[in-house]
Amino acid sequence: MIENRVHNFNPGPAALPLPVLAEIRDEFLNYKGSGMSITEVSHRSKWFDEVISDAKSRVKRLLKLNDDYHVLFLQGGASMQFCMAPMNLIPGGQPADYVNTGTWSTKAIKEARIQGKKVNVVASSEDKNFCYIPRDISFTKGAAYVHLTSNNTIKGTQWAPFPDTGDVPIVCDMSSDIMSRPFDVAPFGLIYAGAQKNIGPAGVTLVIIRDDMVKRVPENIPTMLKYSTFVSKNSMFNTPPCFAIYTCQVVLKWLEETIGGLENMEKINREKGSILYDVIDNNDFYQGTAEMDSRSFMNVTFRLPSEELEKEFVAEALGNGLGGLKGHRSVGGCRASIYNATGIDAVQTLVDFMKEFARKK
Ligand SMILES: *Cc1c(COP(=O)(O)O)cnc(C)c1O
Repeated sequence: MIENRVHNFNPGPAALPLPVLAEIRDEFLNYKGSGMSITEVSHRSKWFDEVISDAKSRVKRLLKLNDDYHVLFLQGGASMQFCMAPMNLIPGGQPADYVNTGTWSTKAIKEARIQGKKVNVVASSEDKNFCYIPRDISFTKGAAYVHLTSNNTIKGTQWAPFPDTGDVPIVCDMSSDIMSRPFDVAPFGLIYAGAQKNIGPAGVTLVIIRDDMVKRVPENIPTMLKYSTFVSKNSMFNTPPCFAIYTCQVVLKWLEETIGGLENMEKINREKGSILYDVIDNNDFYQGTAEMDSRSFMNVTFRLPSEELEKEFVAEALGNGLGGLKGHRSVGGCRASIYNATGIDAVQTLVDFMKEFARKK
């Protein structure tokens, strides 16, 4: 079909499904008979209006959201949400609970504290370099929310199941595992995800916010940083990232119509993870870095016997058409990011390579 494409294990921006890229290519010069590219039309046009409403409906169907939830497309990445969530959702001197499970949680905590918010770090896995998900946490009664990072992209851990927070709504950074598995949204007041890991290109952030959370938004914060602005203007207070939203729409269509929804997606993701962890567990050459019961099915992190061998592994893998296997610069080692768009065939090719590499050394 298309030659010279690598098996893509990039952590983000990351792989997109090939049929999605082909569809975008095919309609790029003349979008649905408009005589223009979707990047060239007004965000107020009927063409773009259909794109954004279809994307919203698909998010609602895929996650089984009821009408209490608003689906928004914002800019500034997940990192902007580290700032917006506390700014909008922690009223007055109320405390908020945060669970620190890695680099991204740490950043979220910092942004809430910068604003003078009262942050309780109710649990942390920092004592063991974030290699596990804390359990049996006592949450603060009357907290504004509990902040979680559902999948820790850099450390290779993932929440399963989510903790019971009682009446306190969960605010969750799902950047690296949104749409990878079904879950019950009822306890969640806010979900946000930079698109570039699992649902699209960089440049747009999916935000899902429950109506009672929108009602908390104070008047006296900047218009562009208020969730209520984007709820009332259908994410189009100003020009939205049109092309990124369109790409997400095509990905969401693929998820619904080709994959068949999140139950099927989870099955595929579980299989991919199992194939990889199986090699790691049954070959002394590879050492998984996350504790077994906390392992991520999106980012599989592992070490080789030495840093020299890790360098060699990453380079030789790339020579064999397997890209993106270097661990995050802050932790080293190796990481295979196996988001929705990375297929079982890619994972199978990777484990064959891993077995052969270990045998030769
Ligand atoms: C990548 C990532 C981020 C940062 O996202 P930006 O869109 O670059 O701001 C935040 N949280 C998690 C869990 C991530 O994986």
